[in-house]
Amino acid sequence: MRVFLAAVMALWCSVSVLAQQAASSSAPSPITIIRAGTLIDPRADAPLHNQVIVIRGNRVESVGDAASTKPPANARIIDLSHATVLPGLIDSHTHIFLQGEDPAEGGYDVNILKYPLAYRAARATVAARRALEQGFTTLRDVETEGAGYGDVGIKEAIDQGYIPGPRLLAATRAISTTGGYPLEGYAPELEMPKGVEIVDGPVEARKAAREQLSNGADWIKVYMTHRSWVGKNGELVSQPTLTLDEIKAVVDETHGWQKKVACHAYSGIGLQRALDGGCDSIEHGLDLKDNTIAQMKRQGTWYCPTLAVYYHDWGPENTPEGKRDRLRASVHATSFKKAMQANLKIVFGTDMGGIKWTEPIAQEFDRMVELGMSQLEAIRSATVRPAEMLDMTGQIGVIAAGSYADVIAVVDDPLKDIKQLGNVQFVMKDGQVYKNEIR
Ligand SMILES: [Zn+2]
Repeated sequence: MRVFLAAVMALWCSVSVLAQQAASSSAPSPITIIRAGTLIDPRADAPLHNQVIVIRGNRVESVGDAASTKPPANARIIDLSHATVLPGLIDSHTHIFLQGEDPAEGGYDVNILKYPLAYRAARATVAARRALEQGFTTLRDVETEGAGYGDVGIKEAIDQGYIPGPRLLAATRAISTTGGYPLEGYAPELEMPKGVEIVDGPVEARKAAREQLSNGADWIKVYMTHRSWVGKNGELVSQPTLTLDEIKAVVDETHGWQKKVACHAYSGIGLQRALDGGCDSIEHGLDLKDNTIAQMKRQGTWYCPTLAVYYHDWGPENTPEGKRDRLRASVHATSFKKAMQANLKIVFGTDMGGIKWTEPIAQEFDRMVELGMSQLEAIRSATVRPAEMLDMTGQIGVIAAGSYADVIAVVDDPLKDIKQLGNVQFVMKDGQVYKNEIR
């Protein structure tokens, strides 16, 4: 009965989609059929086998058993019957306008001081393409590091089909306070440009949020902590930036636009203000105390750890920087484990851009699983969970009737070996195939 009902529903859906299309345009959308040997639906506990995914235009029309699905005539057929198929992945913390700057080549500062914006945009275009080719069909890109509203421009170019790239949720310029972001360390007489929009006081904070939202920000990004060091008792200290009044102004304004606020916060006072101010997601969250976790749980705050990036570029072992770098990685690991135990809502984030885009994005999955997360939970953190955080449940992070046709495939089973996700061999976004190396 259930099978019959499903069949009737599927038929009804396809008829109604057809009817809509007939009404809206004379040329019917092309139909693609994907034969999936194994299909991971992150909503379910076990994968499905021998499935047929019917795609019309840029949307999934139906998913069903190969045995009971009759492919429509004239459909293009993609055979992934010997592969494992998953929804396109989501990285919730990237910077396409950063390139993992090498200090020997001038580091972060040269980006802002020497490179024309067009050059930075060209590099961002390459970063976006790299993400797509690795199976990341959606990025929440959390600020342009001095490249203004460049992310909104790249997003537009992707959406208009000029360049290949993931669907982007852009945070534009980001917000911090005086003394709260580079460029710094120059003669105090010089007025240096900054990698974010600097605000002081709740009026300026609200104004910055308004300006960024009106210029196309999908999210607002705020730096709630800046410098960090090892404290007197061996703890990780981080310098707080915005006051409670300032962050509250940003959150209040942003929520009024029905948008959300992502807060970079390492530890201590700044992290506490982020939560008291109503931030929607905590970025990095290196040192989460038990009471912090309890508050995040109570408030439904998203946690976007970025483990892998803190294993990069450590200072020499017995220097203050070297000690701090090692402490950051170790407290982050502890916080991640505690967050898992407490069932916090964890989303996959890498800080790519802090890491060179030539490196694999999927290295974060390896870190998560090494620290005890199951493969399925790691996949969920990059699919259904961020879909919910981004208010796109059912649209992305799943392959289901009505979702965008964002589909990837790997050769073997990532539920057994997470490293498979570092070797994505098939990528479709919006119904368009960008990569197919499956034999
Ligand atoms: Zn970042």
